[in-house]
Amino acid sequence: MKIVVLDGYTLNPGDLSWEGLSALGDLTVYDRTPYDQVVERLKGADIALTNKTILDKAVLEQSPNLKFISVLATGYDVVDVKTARERGIVVSNVPTYGTLSVSQMVFAHLLNLTQHVAEHAQGVAQGRWLASPDWCYWEYPLIELAGLTMGIIGFGRIGRTTAKIAKAFEMRVIAYDAYIKDSGDPEIEMVSLDRIFRESDVISLHCPLTPETYNLVNAERLKMMKPTAFLINTSRGAVVNNADLAEALNRGIIAGAGLDVLEVEPPAADNPLLTAKNCYITPHISWATRSARARLMQATVENVAAFLAGKPQNVVN
Ligand code: NAD
Repeated sequence: MKIVVLDGYTLNPGDLSWEGLSALGDLTVYDRTPYDQVVERLKGADIALTNKTILDKAVLEQSPNLKFISVLATGYDVVDVKTARERGIVVSNVPTYGTLSVSQMVFAHLLNLTQHVAEHAQGVAQGRWLASPDWCYWEYPLIELAGLTMGIIGFGRIGRTTAKIAKAFEMRVIAYDAYIKDSGDPEIEMVSLDRIFRESDVISLHCPLTPETYNLVNAERLKMMKPTAFLINTSRGAVVNNADLAEALNRGIIAGAGLDVLEVEPPAADNPLLTAKNCYITPHISWATRSARARLMQATVENVAAFLAGKPQNVVN
């Protein structure tokens, strides 16, 4: 069995091992693959592993040998799953490896917006405490989370874990999910999308990127939010209309944003969010703690082994 990893570098920049996969077949690992080389590199491949390399209709139609795709991630919007199904190609993802790491990042961003730890520490390092007339000083409003409302969009694995942490901070949690109507927790009310936008002090996005969620956060909905509210996005960049969010931040329609994902990654230099007011952006790293990547590697080995044993798991098509 010929196994090709198209973009292995972000999963394993050198601190993990590919041995588990090489034990299952004839393995070739590319650090990254430009779109125009995908078909060439998949020639004769039975199994393709991709993280963010796009496997669209054109690629799938030119890869007649392909039987199985294992996405090295939870979000599998990089694969045309419909075409894959039509061509009898099984597609699996890795659903749970990053849940805790992603939820941790939600609060890294949220606590940054409420306390600005790095900026205060930088000010101290630059001598501003030494020069302070008082025994303490702060340069941003300091905000307590207790009592604030966290609105979660997409109440799946990461959404639920985020809700649990929000409750530990004594936040009130409300949630919206297109498919889940009962939270299973009497303290978490499932509400309409409109109520999420109107009532939340913090909105955290945890839905997948689909045609329905594309630009779900747009100018119209941002206008429904409180001027003091924060938006956190660790899901997919295109769930938010990037230009509309930049405008809402610059005009004070909402108070701030913490983003781990952008519509195009890496972003173009003219993405307006890069210079928007109170907008903090991390380079899509929620998933990338070593613990999470080690789980992702192990789960991928298990996905491939299960497929080879004729019992594919984590199938998404
Ligand atoms: P999940 O499948 O457990 O949960 C997603 C939830 O979204 C489901 O409950 C689903 O019903 C709901 N949903 C689907 N369509 C919706 C819609 N139109 N409106 C509202 N809700 C909708 O997935 P998860 O493990 O919680 O991951 C969520 C997303 O997080 C992934 O799809 C992925 O894009 C993203 N993610 C990002 C990173 C990162 O590094 N930033 C890492 C892992 C996952």
